[in-house]
Formats: sequence, C-alpha cells, structure tokens
Amino acid sequence: MTKTTLKQIVSDPSCMDDYDPNAMSVTQARAFIQQFLTPVIETEQLNVMDSLGRVLAANIVSPSNVPNHHNSAMDGYAFKFIDANKVLTIIGTAFAGRPFEQEINAGECVKIMTGAVIPTGADTVVMQERIKQNDNHITLLDTLSIKQGANIRLAGEDLQLGQTVLAKGHMLRPADLGLIASLGIAKVSVYRPLKVAFFSTGDELISVGKPLQSGQIYDSNRYTLFGMLSRLGVVISDLGVVPDNPDLLETTLLKATSENDVVITSGGVSVGEADYMKALLTKHGQVLFWKINMKPGRPLAYGKIGAAHYFGLPGNPVSAMVTFYQFVREALITLMGSIPKPLPMFKVECTESIKKATGRTEFQRGVLYLVEDGSWKVKPLPNQGSGVLSSMSTANCFIVLDEAVGNCNSGEMLQVQLLEGLI
Ligand code: AMP
Ligand code: MG
Repeated sequence: MTKTTLKQIVSDPSCMDDYDPNAMSVTQARAFIQQFLTPVIETEQLNVMDSLGRVLAANIVSPSNVPNHHNSAMDGYAFKFIDANKVLTIIGTAFAGRPFEQEINAGECVKIMTGAVIPTGADTVVMQERIKQNDNHITLLDTLSIKQGANIRLAGEDLQLGQTVLAKGHMLRPADLGLIASLGIAKVSVYRPLKVAFFSTGDELISVGKPLQSGQIYDSNRYTLFGMLSRLGVVISDLGVVPDNPDLLETTLLKATSENDVVITSGGVSVGEADYMKALLTKHGQVLFWKINMKPGRPLAYGKIGAAHYFGLPGNPVSAMVTFYQFVREALITLMGSIPKPLPMFKVECTESIKKATGRTEFQRGVLYLVEDGSWKVKPLPNQGSGVLSSMSTANCFIVLDEAVGNCNSGEMLQVQLLEGLI
C-alpha cells in the first residue's frame, strides 16, 4: 500500500487505486488501518509481577546459563561412566542447593538428588531404582542400558548466556514472567499502557440503574467494550451514553480525543446516515467512513482526530463486537508496541447447512463442541441477527465464511475462529 495520507484520501478518495469506501473487503480494511498506526514509544520499568499483558520495550537477554550448572534429572547415583561395571563406593550425598564439594575418583559414586549439582569427576547418573546396595557399596543393574551422560541436565540447555530470550514487542504471558524470574531479573522495561476512551451514542440509550421509558433500550455496547478492552490491558475511560445532541457529542469527542490515544464510539456512523456524529468527525478530524463487505458489522469509521485514533463502530451489539475483534483489537495491539498475530483459525465439520451470499465475509456465531469420537464439530446458532447479543454470549467461535464462499451444506468443513479467552 502507498504512503498516501489520511487527509489526501478524505479529500479525494480516488487518489488511491482499488480504494472504494463503499466496498472494502475485511482484509483491505485491516491493511488500510495498519498503515496509519504509530505505536507508543514511552516506556516504564515494572516489577515482573506487574508486567503481565504488557509489551516489552527492550529485549530480555540472558545474563547467565539456565540452568547454571550441570545437574541431576533424577534421584540416583552420580559416577564415572567408565566404572559402570564396577562395585562403587558411596562417598557422600549431593542435595539440590547443597552440592557435594569433593571430586569423584575411579570406583566411587555420590548419592544425588534431583536438581543437585553434578560433582566434579562424574559424567553419568543412574536412577536409584536401577542399583543394588550393600552397605555403602552399589552395583548397577542392567549396565548395558545405561548411556554416558544419562540423567544429566546440562548447563545452558534451557537458555544460554547472552541469548535473546524474549524480543522487544513481545506481549508478556504467564510463562514469560517465570522465564524472566528464572534469569534473576526483577524489573522489565515495557511500553506505557494505551489510553482508550469510549462512549455510546443514541437518544434511545439508557444506562443501567435507570428505568426504561417506552422506546428506550439499555446501553450494552459500553459493557462489551469494557470487557474486550480490559482483556487487552489498556487504561480505560468510560465516557457514558451521549444522546444525539450535537453540542454534547462535540464536547465529549474533543475531550476524549485530547486525553486519550484511542477513542471508540458505537452507533450513529452508518454510511449515508445524516447524523451529528458524522458531521462532527468530518469537521474535527480525518475520518473515513466505510461499508465493509462483511456481515455483521457493515459500517465502520476509522481515522484520526488530532493525535488520537478514532474507531466508529456500528451500533448493533453483535456488529460492534465483531468489528472490534476483526479490526480494533489488532490495531490496539499494534499501537501498544506489539505485533498482532491473526486469531487462530481451523476447519471443522459444520453440522448444519448455512445460507450465504458470495461477495462478503460472514462471521456467524457458532458453538464448537466435542463429539463422542473425540473430534470437534461446529453448530451455527439459530438466530444470527446483528442485534441478538445472546448469540454472542452462547457462541464460543465465529464460523468465518470468506467472500468467495456461498451456501454451505451440512457436513462441510468450515473455518472457525475461537473466541474462548477473548470473550
Ligand atoms: P445505529 O448504528 O446508531 O444506527 O444503531 C443501530 C442499532 O443498534 C439500533 O437498533 C440501536 O438502538 C442499537 N444500538 C446502538 N447503540 C447501542 C448500544 N450502545 N447498546 C445497545 N444497542 C445499541
Ligand atoms: Mg443511533
């Protein structure tokens, strides 16, 4: 994609080949957004236990070998392999954390515990079940099966001194915290958290805690957004429900964009809809309004207002979630300083037929379940309406039907994208 600026595209959409705001594919829109994202650069030092989910701002380099010493993988006896056929004299014991300091000589062995340092002179460990003991002497059983170097964990076999263990840009997971601690590192340098504000727009929306008047509905998008954003570990500002009032919308939008890295709104950005939100976005920023070839979640607005990135999600609750997962999540991960990986997709048998028109990508809500024969199958949920939030709550996956896919028969292998851990 070329280095066209948002401003150029807003003022003259024809300046880019293949750019049609009324027919953007999911992949095109994703790639389009990526080119305007500049990750945060400010960093902070955190204790390892405070860094879960944060993005490394510098490589973690191993300051030592892990493990630090050759050590025993078993409870047993350490000896010289060349002595395997001899009667060996036990000259002491090596415990984990309490090494046996003397050297082992010919015909000698040391009783050794798992994790204990291998004493100098020994090169092999035999399991304690594979010996016969007589006072302080042992003989090895089945000597032919014993190999030189057996049951020894070598120094540096996990990590080597100077090795890059985790790269800058890596988002820290539980195993990483342990890995960093195993190197004796107490603090890590991470990027500052991303500040994300959101609000819902619509005269019909009421916040929980107030009674509903006729024609009103409770705002649910702020709650799903709160949940999805919390999973990403960003700093969240919930700016509430803003009615379809131009002054209130303007004040809220400007405050939100001046104080945050990203602002997300839902509702009121339908393409062609003459409403205040669209006019405001055009007045204060460079925002593109797209009809994406997807279902649900057709209208999407993306752009910049001042230094803040702006995402205008469709108001329908399922559409808002689908567009968040397919576009916003990945953009936020990039802005956090990391590299987004595609959500895992794999093919499973679908137990029902699906009606589908070619030419758009569909994200149907499905339930992936374990069958008695040990395989997994997927069943689409009956009500695929873009306002039916209960389908999203029951689903554990999206059935992803690409643009080229048409009607599907029951028994066909279809692509699914797991939502477990995301919702
Ligand atoms: P809009 O995109 O504003 O035209 O809204 C499309 C549909 O989504 C309408 O039925 C709205 O009532 C509904 N909707 C919009 N925002 C929300 C919200 N925050 N929570 C629940 N439903 C919403
Ligand atoms: Mg609305």
